Amino acid sequence: MPHSKPVTPFASETGDPFLLTPGPLTTSRTVKAAMLHDWGSRDANFVAINKSVLAQLRDIANGGDEYVTVPVQGSGTFAVEAMLTSLVPRDGKVLVLVNGAYGLRAKRILDIARRKTVVHQTAEDAPPDLKKVESILKRTPSITHVFAVHCETTSGILNPVANIGALAARYGKGFLIDSMSAFGAVPLDARAVGADAITASSNKCIEGVPGLGFVICRRAALEASQGNATTLVLDLHDQWSNFEKTGQYRFTPPTHVIVALHQALREFDEEGGVAGRGARYRNNCRVLIEGMTALGFRPLLAVDLQAPIIVTFHMLDDPRFDFQRFYDGLKERGFVIYPGKLTVADSFRIGCIGRIGEREMRAALDAVREMLQSMGVAGTSAQAA
Ligand SMILES: *Cc1c(COP(=O)(O)O)cnc(C)c1O
Repeated sequence: MPHSKPVTPFASETGDPFLLTPGPLTTSRTVKAAMLHDWGSRDANFVAINKSVLAQLRDIANGGDEYVTVPVQGSGTFAVEAMLTSLVPRDGKVLVLVNGAYGLRAKRILDIARRKTVVHQTAEDAPPDLKKVESILKRTPSITHVFAVHCETTSGILNPVANIGALAARYGKGFLIDSMSAFGAVPLDARAVGADAITASSNKCIEGVPGLGFVICRRAALEASQGNATTLVLDLHDQWSNFEKTGQYRFTPPTHVIVALHQALREFDEEGGVAGRGARYRNNCRVLIEGMTALGFRPLLAVDLQAPIIVTFHMLDDPRFDFQRFYDGLKERGFVIYPGKLTVADSFRIGCIGRIGEREMRAALDAVREMLQSMGVAGTSAQAA
């Protein structure tokens, strides 16, 4: 038996453990309650709700009339694939900036769709080298688009999308951004960064439930994309033109997810939009890093590279530290953390996003302290100081 006495878990409003993961996340009770109705997909109320959701998402990116949100049923990757395969023409070539699993996934999507790529890869704890990016753009005129991940969730690093966008614009390239884990918490102005498209999903910083991805597209790029798609379901141009004609999805929409997203956006506004949500997550991130550091853990990233989304910590270098036991003990105490996905270091991750605040972060730190004590790893704080 791993524990001598039973523990009382720290639980969310619904009695579930808190998800300190990169999504799905802990959502509010009111977001979940919004799903207690059935909606017909052609119901006028539902059509109006969907329309307002799409407009609000575009506004978060400050898109104005130049941009339009095209939703894609499915998880975030469905929207990334829809963006890449719809907006990059068959004879296009994409400079893919890779410093983690999501950059690699984009490359894989493009390979399957037979789009040519040039990859600039850096270590998981390093942003792209902008000088190299520029020299690739300068010597490879056949590149049509640049793809970047905003917050690379593999490590939690914040990539410099504004600088990348400026380079793409200088060399006349389209710019495609996977902002999945940052959208809504880290400011991103579509026009200022010169984005052709930005993709994100319902279940990360907007704090909705999983099931809807979306791509905020520059209208001109979308209009020019007819005939590019490699699949029917992920054809953004077709999805968009159908909305223009009928206001409706081509295929069954995840109605409950969209109504919950509508509620989540209301709560997002009440919190003060990107500024308010970003401030709560930054505080979560600060409390987490300070507390974990005091307990002897070392974050992977330098402070200036860390996005306030998810933090990667090195495993403790102590033979008594057993990650599986640590993970299970935290779960038992009400917190689900996330194993690492890095190649550069043995690590694990703790998320700062979702319906959680300082109180939950401090309770999670208490649970971490208890687990270290129960494994006999206590005293590491003195060692680390
Ligand atoms: C979560 C995430 C995705 C999408 O993942 P899904 O599992 O398909 O929802 C894509 N890119 C990044 C950076 C992410 O964090």
